[in-house]
Amino acid sequence: MKRVHNFSAGPAALPLEVLEIAQKELLDYQGEGTSIMEQSHRGKSYTRVDTEAKERLNRILGLGNKFKIMFLQGGASTQFMQVPYNFLKPEETADYINTGIWSKKAIKEAKLFGNVHVAYTGEDQNFTRVPADEELNLSGESRYVHFTSNNTIYGTQFSSEPDSKGTPLICDASSDFLSRKIDIDKYGLIYAGAQKNLGPSGVTVVLIRKDFLETADKKDIPTILNYHTHADRIFNTPPTFAVYMVNLVLKWVEEKGGIPYFEKINSQKADLLYKTIDDDGFYRGIAEVNSRSKMNVTFRLPSEALEQQFLKEAAEHDLVALKGHRTIGGIRASIYNACTLESLEILVNFMNKFRADNG
Ligand code: PMP
Repeated sequence: MKRVHNFSAGPAALPLEVLEIAQKELLDYQGEGTSIMEQSHRGKSYTRVDTEAKERLNRILGLGNKFKIMFLQGGASTQFMQVPYNFLKPEETADYINTGIWSKKAIKEAKLFGNVHVAYTGEDQNFTRVPADEELNLSGESRYVHFTSNNTIYGTQFSSEPDSKGTPLICDASSDFLSRKIDIDKYGLIYAGAQKNLGPSGVTVVLIRKDFLETADKKDIPTILNYHTHADRIFNTPPTFAVYMVNLVLKWVEEKGGIPYFEKINSQKADLLYKTIDDDGFYRGIAEVNSRSKMNVTFRLPSEALEQQFLKEAAEHDLVALKGHRTIGGIRASIYNACTLESLEILVNFMNKFRADNG
């Protein structure tokens, strides 16, 4: 068996330990003679998986039972619509911070439901940075303030929550969920597609503070899209195998030492990579230094020809999925929780050699 060093932006690398458990349990889940995905979502085994995953999330994030946890479908893209459907009436205003393509998509959907006030946009600077609190122009009458904590495409990240002046934050945390400590009391709702830091694609985790959920519209919303439908029960068939995988990833997160462990190692990994980029003028970081992401590290080489050569030679060294997003080009190394320090060191050694050979 050969496993490569996978820097995919998503669906992304999963912890080897987790894949091995899934492999072991695939044909015979805990002596039951079937896999978990061949069982009823109302059965004892799946109910335990669902409950365990929610209890683990509650512990890992220190939610203190103040949040409803839901495993939904449709990806983060569905949340772009479902959030305003539930929380924004036509006469109401929501503030959105525009830090890239994903924020823009969220803004587009919200406009279908109510007034959108764009409190900041980084578009004129090609989304190479995130705003400081002083740059936010909040409407002052907002239902919520929406932001994208980590911008997967440009490689920018908020280093802490934007100051929403007490208005509940709603966060698309798809690409940095569980990667570092967050100030949970500031959030009304957090959503994240699982396929970067949490598990395989197919499930989206949505956390909603209970008192914030109480302010959501209770009627005039199709049943499946109404958050209240999912708050206290499994309403319809969930993506059972994906949730099972999420539960295994959460177990792994806890066993490793939880958020403190990942926050520390993610900083170490990112520091190592940015130090290599900043060494001389050969590599050039795309994001502004203060806005740099610890999850998606984006950079350029002196020419597109060298970038092509870099990708080709990297692949020959089993360093894969390093091509930047098609809208900005260059190189992107996605170094989520499951990316090991060892993979990172091998990448950095390759980068140093490539620079020595071609610089
Ligand atoms: N938000 C962010 C920050 C993302 O990175 C992505 C996917 N790359 C999305 C939203 C869209 O997620 P999905 O494909 O699960 O709808």
